Amino acid sequence: MLTYDKHYYDGAWQTSTATETIAVVSSATEEAIARVPRGTAEDVDRAVKAARRGFESWRRLSVEERAQWLEKLAAAMKTRAPQIAEAIAHEVGTALGFATKVQAEFPIMMIGMNAKFIRDIKLEEELGNSIVVKEPIGVVGCVTPWNYPLHQIVCKIAPAFAAGCTVVLKPAEMAPLSAFFLAEAAHEIGLPNGVFNLVSGSGRVVGEAIVGHPEVDMVSFTGSLQAGRRIASVAGDGIKKVTLELGGKSAFVVLDDAPFDKAIPAGVNNCMQNSGQTCSAWTRMIVPRSRHDEAVELAKAQLAKLTLGDPFDKNTRLGPLASAGQRDTVLEYIEKGKNEGAQLVAGGGKPAQLPKGFYVEPTIFANVDNKMTVAQEEIFGPVLSIIPYDSDDQAIAIANDSPYGLAGGVWAGTQERAMDVAKQMRTGQVDINGGRFNVLAPFGGYKKSGIGREIGPLAVEEFFQLKSIQR
Ligand code: NAD
Repeated sequence: MLTYDKHYYDGAWQTSTATETIAVVSSATEEAIARVPRGTAEDVDRAVKAARRGFESWRRLSVEERAQWLEKLAAAMKTRAPQIAEAIAHEVGTALGFATKVQAEFPIMMIGMNAKFIRDIKLEEELGNSIVVKEPIGVVGCVTPWNYPLHQIVCKIAPAFAAGCTVVLKPAEMAPLSAFFLAEAAHEIGLPNGVFNLVSGSGRVVGEAIVGHPEVDMVSFTGSLQAGRRIASVAGDGIKKVTLELGGKSAFVVLDDAPFDKAIPAGVNNCMQNSGQTCSAWTRMIVPRSRHDEAVELAKAQLAKLTLGDPFDKNTRLGPLASAGQRDTVLEYIEKGKNEGAQLVAGGGKPAQLPKGFYVEPTIFANVDNKMTVAQEEIFGPVLSIIPYDSDDQAIAIANDSPYGLAGGVWAGTQERAMDVAKQMRTGQVDINGGRFNVLAPFGGYKKSGIGREIGPLAVEEFFQLKSIQR
């Protein structure tokens, strides 16, 4: 059992004022694999003060020096990639192969990319008789979720460091280990004191203490709508900048001239990625009524290829869900779908062959009405709703009839037709005709999916203040 009994701040491992710990549970075995401290507001106060002291020197480093620290950090994390992937396969249930690429190697690469971003950003601009200067905003409080734990952390800390900010991080209770590995890497390379500070604990205690701390200048949060609301109000009280990356209920619009044999499997894979525990998942597949049954058959055939099982088995595509609570929530949504009249065409319960671990069968509902709960609320599990439409305008209206607007997809017979629909969708990202994820493109939400953007060079700008100097 891996046991951490200290937080990391001021460039050192520090004894927690907490007496309690949090158990980190494997989603496959249901056994505790690690423990981390359940921190207190006192721990947060010490960490924020360290971050404030650290900020005074970190912001004065040259861009080149900060870029080099990011590259050193990426290199130190690279040696930890197998350890990170294994921990996240346990914590989240992500299949090990996917965890290695997407949960470990990808965010590690993003740390290094931020070095390039900051080298290329113009920090001063002349406007009339003014020089407009981009300055780091200060101490950033980062609060992150469990589904892509290291990725969510890197999306905040790497651009913050690049911009010249220092951070205090609280990782998710269910998946905190990669944050501790990051602290070990920061310590190993001798990252200057107070730049990276880590306090583990609950959202209510540690999270709120960070958000409300008067020495925290900005809050960068990823998580649920419910917690985001609370965080925005606490931060608002302190007149702090807040970025929120919240939930999603993203739509994949398949037009009648699309190649269904390509589009439908791509849509199923997108929805089921990480067992549906993905904020940007296309959980609503919107298909022409005339081709609905064909889409259902193709979706079922694709689903049958996604083997459910132990995340450490190399044949597994879909692992368990992250916790018993998450599994029970998803099962409740499936029951709601059945009760509200959605047609269950695949999955629908706990898999009998996997009695241990928090497994849910990947599930498809067909003939779903967009007003049903399964089409309106974020389920955060392997549940796809197939929704029929009668005209392109109706398809767009259904796609936009959601409180959320995080991601989405369109597949049409031509790029022009897909582009036309994409531009009418009120959402932060749209992939057309199989367009791939782009690590340079800003990511974030319209509507209740959030405020602000992460990823790519534009995300670094979130961590600046603008100062105008007139001559
Ligand atoms: P959550 O909101 O329960 O928790 C997220 C983090 O916030 C955790 O660290 C938690 O301890 C903390 N927290 C909770 N209440 C808090 C409070 N009052 N003050 C301060 N901190 C608090 O979310 P989760 O269950 O960990 O993650 C799943 C959610 O995250 C989903 O809704 C998903 O869509 C969303 N998400 C969004 C994105 C995105 O980029 N938009 C990415 C991943 C996940």
